[in-house]
Amino acid sequence: MRLTRRRLLTAAAAAAMALPRRAWTATTLEGGGMRLDTLSDGRLELPPSFLFGTLPEAEAAEVMARHGLSPDAPLIAPCNVTLLRSEDRTALFDVGAGPDFQPTAGELPAALDALGVAPEKITDVIFTHGHPDHLWGLLDEFDEPLFPEAALWMGGTEFDYWTDPATAGSIGEARLAFYAGASRRLEAVADRMRRIADGDVPLPGVTARLTPGHTPGHMAFDLGQALLVGDCIGNGHVAFSDPAMALGSDQAPQEAAETRAKLMAELAASGQALIGFHLPEGGIGTVRTEGQGYRFAPA
Ligand SMILES: [Zn+2]
Repeated sequence: MRLTRRRLLTAAAAAAMALPRRAWTATTLEGGGMRLDTLSDGRLELPPSFLFGTLPEAEAAEVMARHGLSPDAPLIAPCNVTLLRSEDRTALFDVGAGPDFQPTAGELPAALDALGVAPEKITDVIFTHGHPDHLWGLLDEFDEPLFPEAALWMGGTEFDYWTDPATAGSIGEARLAFYAGASRRLEAVADRMRRIADGDVPLPGVTARLTPGHTPGHMAFDLGQALLVGDCIGNGHVAFSDPAMALGSDQAPQEAAETRAKLMAELAASGQALIGFHLPEGGIGTVRTEGQGYRFAPA
């Protein structure tokens, strides 16, 4: 494994529309015949209750204070989409939020443009799960597929969950829009979707790993030099300090906590790098033990 460099890419926003200049951090990892870049899709701003609403109020306040988070300010979640380039593949892991989710996200097309990668050149899109910030960028503002040439890959369990009408009745009011947005997009591309299961190898050097709890069929991907964890390690603070804590950002909080604690112990012991969709500073780093828990050490 060779950590090469971190770059700050800056690029002018499209067509000089009186928009401010935007910046994308890109962290790079090279080895095993592939190059991995994390590209920023922007960030989400979430109410603290989205994450900590499962905890008793006093405990939530204590945990937030310990991490320097304010109960009165939104939680900022950076969004890192991973680009894999090898001799014959140009693949994305997730596609960001697209134009319809939050005004602070949906910047992947501009980030790709800054790297000189045209959407038509993407050969594969591999999804960790079906949440808006990972999936909704699949269609552009005209509802046309943004990556027309790409083979699409998603865990079979995950695909079934988001396309099953029964999910509308079971997912709960707070996430009903997630279901509507996912089912519409997945139905639009259903004939191009290839289903994967635990242990499958969608691309050379990429092994799927079922990591349920955040969503029913969430997949991590072992890339050898790094484990791409998607949202099963979903933030850079409490997920590391208290991995076994049940969090409201997971659809099955208890199951997700078990998955997270297991992965965290494994990564700390092996020293394998991880790539997290919502982790800070580009999302690539390692897990270090600290006190009773762990911390994220950016590359
Ligand atoms: Zn998610």
